[in-house]
Order: sequence, then C-alpha cells, then structure tokens
Amino acid sequence: MLASQDQHNQEPHNQEPPKRRFLGRGDIDVSFEFFPPKTDAMEDTLWRSIRRLEPLRPKYVSVTYGAGGSTRERTHATVGRMLRETTLKPAAHLTCVSATKEEIDEVIRDYWDLGVRQIVALRGDPPGGVGACYEPTSGGYANAADLTAGIKKIAPFEISVGCYPEKHPESKSVEADVDMLKAKIDAGATGAITQFFFDNEVYFRYLDRVRAAGIDIPIVPGLIPIHNFKQVSSFAERSGASVPDWIGHRFEGLDEDQETRHLVAAAVAAEQVLGLVDQGITEFHFYTLNRADLVYAICYLLGLRPAKAFTEAKVETAT
Ligand SMILES: Cc1cc2nc3c(=O)[nH]c(=O)nc-3n(C[C@H](O)[C@H](O)[C@H](O)COP(=O)(O)OP(=O)(O)OC[C@H]3O[C@@H](n4cnc5c(N)ncnc54)[C@H](O)[C@@H]3O)c2cc1C
Repeated sequence: MLASQDQHNQEPHNQEPPKRRFLGRGDIDVSFEFFPPKTDAMEDTLWRSIRRLEPLRPKYVSVTYGAGGSTRERTHATVGRMLRETTLKPAAHLTCVSATKEEIDEVIRDYWDLGVRQIVALRGDPPGGVGACYEPTSGGYANAADLTAGIKKIAPFEISVGCYPEKHPESKSVEADVDMLKAKIDAGATGAITQFFFDNEVYFRYLDRVRAAGIDIPIVPGLIPIHNFKQVSSFAERSGASVPDWIGHRFEGLDEDQETRHLVAAAVAAEQVLGLVDQGITEFHFYTLNRADLVYAICYLLGLRPAKAFTEAKVETAT
C-alpha cells in the first residue's frame, strides 16, 4: 500500500494516471472513524454500522474523543467493546483539552492495559469552540506534538496525527502548518490522516508540499461521504475545509428528496475515491458519522469484499 503512495511521490500527478482500479484486498487499505454514542438509539445505529463494516476487514477503526474530554468514558467503553466483541483493531483518539498531563497519562495507561495499541493524538479544539483562542491547560500537554511525545514515553503505541491539506485554521501559514506536522513526526507519529477535502487537487498539492519538505510518512486521505450536504458544509466551515461550488450544485434542490440525494452522494464519493485511486492512492480513512451504507458501497467499488468467515457465519445462523 505504501509502495503506491511512494510511487506517487516519484511521479508528478499530472503524468498519465496509472489505471489501477478495482484492486481489492491486499492492495487497498481502509480505516473507519466512528464517534461514541450519546443515547441508546445512537448506540444501536453505531453497532449496526460496525457490524456491517467489520467483514470488510479495515486496517483499523478509530473512535473520536469529544471536545474537552467530554466523551472520555464513552470513547473508552466503545473501544473496549470493540476489543471484546469484534475482530477489529481499534485506535482511540485522544486530545489535550482541559486535562492535566497526569489525567491524560492515566487514560493512556488504561488504553494500553485494555489492549489498545494505536492512538490518534490530537490537540483538540478550544473549549470555547472552533474560532476561539486555544489556551493549553495549565499542567497539560501543549499540542499534538507534545502529546505524541508523552504517549511514547508511556508505551510503544502506534501514533497517527491529524494534518490539514488546506492548512489548519489557526496556522499562521502553510509553512507553519507543515512544520507542526514535522514536529509531530519527530515526536513519534508514524502516520497522518488528513482533514476531509472534496477537491482531490487540494490533497495532491498538499502531498507534493509535504514530500518536498522531507516528510515521508503515509498521508492518508480522510474522506467524508455527504449524507447531508448542509451538515457537512457546516463541518467544513468550522474546520477550514473548502466546499467547491460544483458540489453545492450537485445537491441543489434535493433537501426534500432523500432518495436522489443518497444516489448523488454515492456518485460524488465514488468519483472522488476513484480519482484518488487513479493517481496511485491506495489507503483511505472514512469519516463514517456512524453510518455504514455509503462507506460500504465505496469500499465495494474499491474491490473490497466481506470476508468469507462473516458471510458463512451469517448463513449458518440463518439455517
Ligand atoms: C483525523 C482527525 C481526527 C480528529 N479527531 C478529533 C477528536 O477525536 N476529537 C477532537 O476534539 N478533535 C478531533 N479533531 C480535530 C482537531 O482536534 C482540531 O483540528 C484541532 O484544532 C487541532 O488538532 P491537531 O491535533 O491537529 O493540533 P496541532 O497539530 O497540535 O496544532 C494544530 C495547528 O495549530 C497550530 N499550532 C499548535 N501549536 C503550535 C505551536 N506550538 N507553534 C505554532 N503553531 C502551533 C499549528 O498551526 C498547527 O497546525 C480531529 C482532526 C483530524 C484531522
């Protein structure tokens, strides 16, 4: 999988794209991001989605950590249940917000004891919400690089971090943003997941920039299927991701037409992911928003198929 990304490094993307579609298992790696549920009904939706996506054997699944550690227990419970009841490898998100180093270190030790071996290390957003000024907690980790170093001191976790093809909204410049990614790698991160984007050129330009800066870890595209255009546009606004006009046009007038909206969302997602595959990208992180249908279909397009063990178990239960 990395070979293809490396291949992309060597070949500028404006050359004739290699036609490498429908590669399937062994060539394509996917990971799925979920958020911890707040209610029983949300828990039900989450677990139906997990069960639906599990047979596709993702490389790992990640569980987010709410602003200010507000989901600490729920993130822990979801990750624990994944370990106990599924074949999945969970990666727990962790942020620096509103907690001292001691408190965060305790969470890190708990994860290690539980059997978690991968963490997505993040600074987190200011408690006042995106746009407010971020102030590190007194006695806490200052940012994601500091947190990454702290995690590494406790146990040999595999650490992924966030990165921003359109730069983090708080970054003074694109260069400062790339420097921050470098600092996270120097602290021990071995993979980066991008903020979502809709224009693949944005990702490729970023990839060229970070490779030119000597960064060679996988920069895995984070993709968000558009179940609800208004909701995703609002996420994008808050996170500094641009939404091209043409995407808006595609969903125009479909607010009350769920069926067509769903088909359009599938087409938009397919176009984006296959565009990336055509340029040699073979690893993808999906922001599932706890919904399986579109992500399952996209993975199917990528050539992934449910593992036999799961389909046979289903037949056995049915007979
Ligand atoms: C894949 C992914 C998953 C996420 N999951 C979660 C989650 O589970 N929970 C959650 O609350 N949020 C999550 N977020 C959002 C994230 O917490 C926010 O984007 C946050 O504002 C920045 O986090 P970071 O880890 O990228 O921060 P950092 O990399 O620490 O910093 C972000 C930016 O701030 C600036 N900065 C910070 N420190 C310095 C410094 N010392 N000097 C100069 N500039 C500095 C830099 O410009 C830098 O690029 C996620 C984001 C991504 C991309």
